[in-house]
Amino acid sequence: MRPAILDSLFSDITMLKGIGPRYGIVFEGFIGRRVVDALFHLPYQLIDRRYRPCLAEAVDGRIVTTVVTIGKHEPPRHRNGPYKITCYDETRELQLIFFRARGDWLSKSSPEGSQRLISGRLERFKDRLQMVHPDHIVALDKADGVPMLEPVYPLTTGLPGSVMRKASLGAIANMPSLPEWQDADWLIKQNWPSWHQALATLHHPKAEEDVSPLSEARQRIAYDELLANQITLTLIRRNRQVVSGQVIKGTGQLQKQFLASLPFTLTQGQKTSVADISDDLSQDKRMLRLVQGDVGSGKTFVALMAMLQAVEAGKQATLMAPTEILARQHGQSIGSYLDALGVVYCVLTSRNKGKSREKMLASIASGETQIIIGTHAVFQDAVDFHDLGLAIVDEQHRFGVKQRLQLGNKGKGGGLGTNILVMTATPIPRTLTLTAYGDMDVSRITDKPAGRQSIDTRLMSIDRYQELKDGLSRIISRGERAYWVCPLVNESELIDLAAAEARYTDLHNQYGEQIGLVHGQMKAQEKDRIMEKFSSGEISVLVATTVIEVGVDVPEATTIIIEHAERFGLAQLHQLRGRVGRGDKKSNCILLYRGPLGETSRARLEIMRQSQDGFEIAEKDLELRGSGEVLGVRQSGLPHFKVANLDTHAHLLPIVHDDARLILSQDQHLTGDRGKALRNLLHVFERHEALRFLDAG
Ligand code: ADP
Ligand code: MG
Repeated sequence: MRPAILDSLFSDITMLKGIGPRYGIVFEGFIGRRVVDALFHLPYQLIDRRYRPCLAEAVDGRIVTTVVTIGKHEPPRHRNGPYKITCYDETRELQLIFFRARGDWLSKSSPEGSQRLISGRLERFKDRLQMVHPDHIVALDKADGVPMLEPVYPLTTGLPGSVMRKASLGAIANMPSLPEWQDADWLIKQNWPSWHQALATLHHPKAEEDVSPLSEARQRIAYDELLANQITLTLIRRNRQVVSGQVIKGTGQLQKQFLASLPFTLTQGQKTSVADISDDLSQDKRMLRLVQGDVGSGKTFVALMAMLQAVEAGKQATLMAPTEILARQHGQSIGSYLDALGVVYCVLTSRNKGKSREKMLASIASGETQIIIGTHAVFQDAVDFHDLGLAIVDEQHRFGVKQRLQLGNKGKGGGLGTNILVMTATPIPRTLTLTAYGDMDVSRITDKPAGRQSIDTRLMSIDRYQELKDGLSRIISRGERAYWVCPLVNESELIDLAAAEARYTDLHNQYGEQIGLVHGQMKAQEKDRIMEKFSSGEISVLVATTVIEVGVDVPEATTIIIEHAERFGLAQLHQLRGRVGRGDKKSNCILLYRGPLGETSRARLEIMRQSQDGFEIAEKDLELRGSGEVLGVRQSGLPHFKVANLDTHAHLLPIVHDDARLILSQDQHLTGDRGKALRNLLHVFERHEALRFLDAG
């Protein structure tokens, strides 16, 4: 239950003065329609209007605020021409310029001869002073309404800055006074203000520094937010360790048999991961482990070994992939081993319908099916397991803390007992691992199976398309395969699809049936059919949108061409590149760009050329661009923060991590004075999971 003292923060934004129901709807679709949403929506810039020179002394390029007399109006001479108003003070003349202006409105609101306070950026054009679209033109009796220090907020259609300001000022005015939750000495040491003071400063900035992400006020609130996050992760971790899981001790029989059937041995990284998992499973506490391993590091066999341990112990295990294609492919690659071992498995996706689905579900419910391979959707649907001991999530990008918690509830009797293994190829830099995965234990596979060839990577301008297109004939005649990736560029699948289709058509005109197309809008069966043809060699060149990004394994593929490479995150490029170099043949990756490339873009693509190591690439990309961009926040599984920024506030991460542990070691259930104050913090940032665990404990 939320303490009553916080109610005003969570009340509807329309209770604030000047925010009517119409704006309520706009807020709802933008940042949310509660007072607290406005409170954490911070300005990113400050316009200082305090510079008030006479025109003769005004320095151009600066924001100037001054009183002028309005002179002649000059409507546009031709369509699309500017509307001009000449005005002056005692010292000089100035021209106000408006494009696409409503002249009738201007002549009414600023008639010739009237006095007006104007404010805006002053420019000099030849020998004239001018101001294009002044920010304010008001009659002198309204001059008080022009803010001399004007914070600029991120806005959306239908939400003017003035309304946003009213909302944030209202939110500040209505803020409850809350007991301090941060350590007093720490605040003094950092010279950080109180929570209340910090937010007031951020919404009423007095100087440029106040809107900087590194201002004391901003760091304070960022720290609050990061602390709420880290306390939550620590609680989840603690809770999981307390909850009595299932003891899964295998006989080792199936694992041994499987290893003996492999034509190679596991790499050191695979072995260590398998051992970590085996150890976790055989303990009474619940496993929540992340296996981080570059593309091609062999995570699938690690998953298989873990599942075999569960089966040996009489439990069921499930392996979930993000896409239908991948689930099917896992079914194929692991399936042959499972068949040989006599393990009963099924591949369950949304495609299994009617009778066959019912049969599968019944077999899962009875416990006859031991291993279930499927898409993530399997878990969201009502699948009734007989005795699920282990759930594995493969190649997850969109799996946040919440989803991981949900996963745990599928065990026997819906308890919290299911052991969870998450496998990712997203090379999250070390500094961010705790923030994203602070609730999990981590195993890293840092080596690659022996004999892997490095992938020759080249940058090429799209101007050389014809040459490249002709070159495909060599790949085709050698019986090798190539991917041709057309990226999501417009964030609109339809437009992007059109680009991929156009590319497909053009290649198809030259090479005919050797060319195939696969994209996200296709029906699953259709996708599989095409992938199957590509895999068997019936199709040599596969034009694809980024649906092939994760996990697809066609060892004969030796070339990958990526169009618009400059628009991808490097982590994603690296994933894509990992689709080739899986067999024993020399492989190539061609990064096509549409020039001219900016300096940073070129530097980024150069990194791809120089390194094949996902972690190194991620670290370097982080240096160049920042975490949000590197990972593409939406897909990274990184938590979304309102105020904190994982790049600019990265220096706070290790501190906040230790702080959270210290706090919880001193006050396990947050019941002391500071503990109670910290509960408010958790409420303010809506860390409901944490609060649930506190109350349950
Ligand atoms: P990931 O999922 O980590 O990207 P996969 O599990 O798909 O990688 O493995 C990539 C390829 O490497 C597969 O073709 C697999 O058969 C092979 N492989 C896995 N482990 C080894 C190993 N220890 N030695 C040789 N090849 C391996
Ligand atoms: Mg994989």
